[in-house]
Amino acid sequence: MTTTAPPTSRALPGPEEVADLARSAAQACGADLPAHQGDREGRSPVNGAVISRLAWTSPEDVDAAVEAARAAYLGWRTVPAPARGAVVKRWAQLLVEHQVDLATLVTLEAGKVTSEALGEVQEMIDICDLAVGLSRQLFGRTIASERPGHRLMETWHPLGVVGVISAFNFPVAVWSWNTALALVCGDPVVWKPSERTPLCALAAHGLLQRALEEGGYDASVAQVLLGGPEVGEALVAHPGVALVSATGSTRMGRAVGPVVAARFGRSLLELGGNNAAVVAPSADLGLATRGIVFSAAGTAGQRCTTMRRAIVHSSVVDELVERVAAAYRNLPVGDPSADGTLVGPLLDRRSFDAFTAALGAAVEAGGEVVVGGGRELTEAAPDAYYVRPAVVRMPAQAEVVHTETFAPILYVLSYETLEEAVALNNAVPQGLSSSIFTRDQAEAELFCSVVGSDCGIVNVNIGTSGAEIGGAFGGEKETGGGRESGSDAWRAYMRRATTTVNYSGELPLAQGVTFEV
Ligand code: NAD
Repeated sequence: MTTTAPPTSRALPGPEEVADLARSAAQACGADLPAHQGDREGRSPVNGAVISRLAWTSPEDVDAAVEAARAAYLGWRTVPAPARGAVVKRWAQLLVEHQVDLATLVTLEAGKVTSEALGEVQEMIDICDLAVGLSRQLFGRTIASERPGHRLMETWHPLGVVGVISAFNFPVAVWSWNTALALVCGDPVVWKPSERTPLCALAAHGLLQRALEEGGYDASVAQVLLGGPEVGEALVAHPGVALVSATGSTRMGRAVGPVVAARFGRSLLELGGNNAAVVAPSADLGLATRGIVFSAAGTAGQRCTTMRRAIVHSSVVDELVERVAAAYRNLPVGDPSADGTLVGPLLDRRSFDAFTAALGAAVEAGGEVVVGGGRELTEAAPDAYYVRPAVVRMPAQAEVVHTETFAPILYVLSYETLEEAVALNNAVPQGLSSSIFTRDQAEAELFCSVVGSDCGIVNVNIGTSGAEIGGAFGGEKETGGGRESGSDAWRAYMRRATTTVNYSGELPLAQGVTFEV
């Protein structure tokens, strides 16, 4: 394996500096830290320092939270949707005011580089904008009735309490995608954030609480429950939670799905990905290189949409690998808050061990590590885990590439025909994001067609990550099938009533049935 010295722009911040910064950013957003004081230590991936000591909710407290949300629902569902939208509008203003504070916490708790952390908060603002517009557009259809003097229509009503479970790598945006829509749809939200990012959660929650309070609404419309999987489990099993929207690993979704189904609840699952880009012979290799490096190495490989496989035509694979490897050698790895850093730390030791183990398994399966794979900044930050993103050339049929390792490893496979490339793209159990780099329109169309990619996101001449809020976000197969954010994703947060109104004075039956009494 090859490693090079990291071009970090400055020394890592010290433990005190990081802890102070985190505390003041959280308080600026209105997080009530004294009220949540406890003995659960939270560490920053930036330098391994303890930055929070908070109390976790017990699974027993979940019941009280859900009951409070159910009580709040009775009032919230009757508030006109545009008035609910006004709360979301105010929330968006507060997010704009505190974008830097919240982004600072995203950097300190999740390790995202500054521009990506700001981008995460921008996504929150964007979903609020979308939800505010939607609050005046929650419409159903009027359908032609087969019976004279009848009106047939669909009405959309609030659903009830929405339980949101979120992952560490999008510690605030994913909650907001759910919450902005749920709120305008008339549903209260109980949030179980990742146990790794509690300050982000308290800060983000603090801003929404302020918007609710200023509007004079019940605080229980939005609640946050700090804690680990056992708190999530209690929320998932609670019969008072109408919709469970859970984002995280496929392992978590496998546990959550059956529990919600067994009580006939509704679930929206956003699980693991194993995303690929096809690079065709006609591709602009400069563009493809930039797209691949952002999607594969950005966020230190810790996005659900991270590109994990490049499926490259044999005629261009050597040149593409050379270009990507050259970019990887120069990637600034280091302090995520420093100017110019593009790759921050892995979350923790476990992520680093998974990275190392996956590289070992790849080599054993016949892979060749072209660049990266080593740990960096070990002396400066012995308790943090910085790595040089890796590129590994793999035999096309290797099984190891079917697993999602939440770290920056890009497997490169080569292909001869587009059919073979599509088959490789679709060969994994996950189905989140995919892309093709090509200047051949027929190839692009085929990749986007019914015989092309089987993923929920299909891009052309863009990497696999960085979706916009306006489209529905989510994926198929082991990614869980859920859709969040734009398009008609709002329907998951409402129930549909099909209503027939008879104003004819007669009682004609459907399908011409007669039943005279
Ligand atoms: P994780 O599955 O370890 O944890 C996610 C959340 O689920 C946490 O809040 C955790 O406490 C909770 N949880 C875990 N087990 C649970 C259970 N049995 N019942 C209820 N709650 C439970 O995931 P992570 O390490 O935080 O995040 C990384 C994973 O999330 C990756 O697999 C990534 O692909 C996925 N992810 C998917 C999307 C998407 O939109 N598809 C977005 C972000 C992350």
